Amino acid sequence: MNVDDIDRVAVLGAGSMGHGITEVVALAGYEVTMRDIEQELVDEGYENIEWSVEKLAEKGLVDQSPDEVMARIDTEVDLETAVEDVDMVIEAAPEKMDLKKDIFGDLDEFAPEETVLASNTSSLSITEIASATSRPEQVVGMHFFNPPVKMDLVEVIYGDETSDETAECAYEFVEAIDKTPIYVRKDVNGFVVNSVLGPFGDEAAWMASEGVATVEEIDAAMVHGRGYPMGPFELSDMTGIDIGYHVRKEAGQPIPPIVQEKVDNDNLGQKTGKGYYDYEDGEGTTYEAGQGESVDTLRIEARIVNEAAKLIGNDVATAEAIDTGMRLGAGFPEGPCRRADKTGLDTVLDKLRKLHEEYGEDRYEPAAYLVELVEAGDTGEDAGAGFYDYGGEDGERDYTTLNYSLSDEGLLEIELDRPERLNALNEDLMDEIVHLLETTDEDDVRAVTFEGAGDRAFSAGADVTGFAGIQPHEVEVTPMFKTVAEYPRPTLAKIDGFCLGGGHELALACDLRIATEGSEFGFPEIDLGLIPGGGGTQRAIRMLSDARAKELVFRGERIDAETAEEWGLINRAVTDDEFDDTVEAFVDDLVSGPPIALRKAKQVMNAGRDQDLSAGLELESQAFGLLLSTDDMMEGASAFMEDREPEFEGK
Ligand code: NAD
Repeated sequence: MNVDDIDRVAVLGAGSMGHGITEVVALAGYEVTMRDIEQELVDEGYENIEWSVEKLAEKGLVDQSPDEVMARIDTEVDLETAVEDVDMVIEAAPEKMDLKKDIFGDLDEFAPEETVLASNTSSLSITEIASATSRPEQVVGMHFFNPPVKMDLVEVIYGDETSDETAECAYEFVEAIDKTPIYVRKDVNGFVVNSVLGPFGDEAAWMASEGVATVEEIDAAMVHGRGYPMGPFELSDMTGIDIGYHVRKEAGQPIPPIVQEKVDNDNLGQKTGKGYYDYEDGEGTTYEAGQGESVDTLRIEARIVNEAAKLIGNDVATAEAIDTGMRLGAGFPEGPCRRADKTGLDTVLDKLRKLHEEYGEDRYEPAAYLVELVEAGDTGEDAGAGFYDYGGEDGERDYTTLNYSLSDEGLLEIELDRPERLNALNEDLMDEIVHLLETTDEDDVRAVTFEGAGDRAFSAGADVTGFAGIQPHEVEVTPMFKTVAEYPRPTLAKIDGFCLGGGHELALACDLRIATEGSEFGFPEIDLGLIPGGGGTQRAIRMLSDARAKELVFRGERIDAETAEEWGLINRAVTDDEFDDTVEAFVDDLVSGPPIALRKAKQVMNAGRDQDLSAGLELESQAFGLLLSTDDMMEGASAFMEDREPEFEGK
């Protein structure tokens, strides 16, 4: 099956996951049949979707009417009817192997020959589920996260016999429904995200059991010190302490005493009112910033990295897939592989070796792949290579927070790729933009565009984790805004969604800005007791009237795209439908325009803005004189005479 041939999809199960998956698939324009075993259950699922689609429409997050979306969804109780003419089935029935095998046996009988058969299981073996069919090569794991409408990640899992064709089709289908897929190339327990997340809770539990730190101290250290969205104990209380307990039992792993004690006393977390924290008589989590400063967080992170290294070494996933998975699926502030490259893989390995020596437990045994990297001298960013390449000996650098492509025509497209943080600028992203612009051969580039990944933001600001506590003398103003502003080619910001704070400043550092009508612009810095620090105050006051610039900076209020256009902050505010065409029209002109003249125009206009008129005119006439001697000027003149399109070569 090829993704382009998929029109109709069936989702089996109308529960938490089933109705959410149905909604996502219908939103993307596919016809979907949602099947459950009783009419009442499908009706309930259908109502849940209706409610959610209406919410999305109210918030302006979909550009279709709720009726249009709902019209693509059919409900069904009879399995045979549900799947008889579908191109893909996504099963989201309860997590029981026998049930899943029954369902896949039936699918084998009733679904068309070519249909891709996917399971949304979070912990069962895809290989075993596939064994219930006569076509295991067409069975694949498609692990959505809860809730599917919000969570961007889908793990695409190979069973032992899954064909590349099936896996690719599933992967491309995930992209087609606007989610981010990662490949899990082997059917390992926990797939990628839950495997790597395992040690987060496990090592924390061992540390608390030993008494080297308290539950509160560890949670505080991981959240406030290391930037995780939740502490390990807080997370465990939320998911249920028994869940992690059973996973360990099934995998034959030892149980940390503190976990055993909670399970024995039936204190399983939020659902029983008590777990590591008290939700009944207390007020839930009680840890605070500043607690746990001496907690050995590397002990937890080293085990996380070790798990990642095992997956890479066993060809289950790439470092990039793992990092994407952990950022999108578990809310990690950055991928564990990327983080380990900063910490130093030798430091991580030393930690594991020491723990292994001290406790003699298997869980600390270093992964062969980690040892291999360290022995090869690839100890991370400082060494030029680690899990990723940093442009060390063999040149090419891997980027972890942006995507880019450079077309033959010379269009360099840069996508800010931190959708889970609304593409907020962090240090890595800013460094990577600078590195990309500085190392791409300028002669190959005729124009640059910036855009944000996902469908919510261009960039919603700067990632302020880690701002507090910085001393004034430590503030290093990033060179990124300057590099972008002074880049010798025209730059254009494609804005669809939030364009705030640092993201707004990046857009202002570009030459041109085109936005969808739903986009919003603002400088919220003042609400944090700050001011824009990436050139925002200065660019705004040069671009806008004094009053308008100050309104933006002083009040911290957002303005919509139409206002931004009226104020002269952006070039165009257009509807979603007009967006791509408008951008393309601009980009075509930039890419086919005379490179030297465009560069000079940018240079003299930027420099002249800050000078008096006569100095500005002087700059202009020098540039004008220089352009008269270029081949491009000759070409432009001949093309004009011959009534044809010029072909500029930048000479
Ligand atoms: P759920 O209990 O909310 O929903 C399951 C639904 O499937 C129920 O409505 C049930 O009536 C229905 N069902 C039972 N037999 C069926 C059959 N033969 N055909 C069709 N429907 C049938 O469960 P859920 O949380 O939606 O989980 C579904 C699957 O998704 C499980 O495999 C689970 O492991 C996986 N998953 C769950 C989560 C999560 O956080 N809930 C996340 C990722 C994956």
